[in-house]
Amino acid sequence: MKSRNTERDDVDELVISEAVKALAEMDKTFKSHLGGTYKGSVQNLVSILNPHVANWLKAKTNVLKKNLKKIEGIKCYNTTDCRAGENKILWVEAAHPLDASRPQVIKAVVKDYLKRGGNGCDIGEVFKEVKSRHETLKFAFLCRWCHKEHDKLSDNSYVARTFKEWADYAATLEKKKRRGGH
Ligand SMILES: [Zn+2]
Repeated sequence: MKSRNTERDDVDELVISEAVKALAEMDKTFKSHLGGTYKGSVQNLVSILNPHVANWLKAKTNVLKKNLKKIEGIKCYNTTDCRAGENKILWVEAAHPLDASRPQVIKAVVKDYLKRGGNGCDIGEVFKEVKSRHETLKFAFLCRWCHKEHDKLSDNSYVARTFKEWADYAATLEKKKRRGGH
């Protein structure tokens, strides 16, 4: 027979798996159709990959934004000096770390790949590595005004988390909300 505590733990696990599962599901269903071997300049390959990486990131961050919106509404996570002013925030943008923009990450992966030698670049492999490196980066969800002046914001004025940490954060909030509900 289940005790009260066990039931509560079951609910907690369910909530956590919802947010984290949505992220995993997104990765499973995302199709890029990228493949083949590339021979040419690094810059060219960065340009080829860039829109594909952007699409993947959009899908990934949309999952998180949807989760956060459901719980906290649409808000800028620059909580100390948001620059939106009087403007109502209608959406938030995912901001890369300042020293690791999307093209910078792609370029670094391509260069590393080429350094390892071989005849050309396996595009599918490079894309996979670009995605994997994004998993360890900390992103900030900012309004467009803060995102535009991202480099001028002080480091501790906004929160930055990895995808996984954002999913956990959303799950924690949801858990609190459900508990508060009864
Ligand atoms: Zn803002």
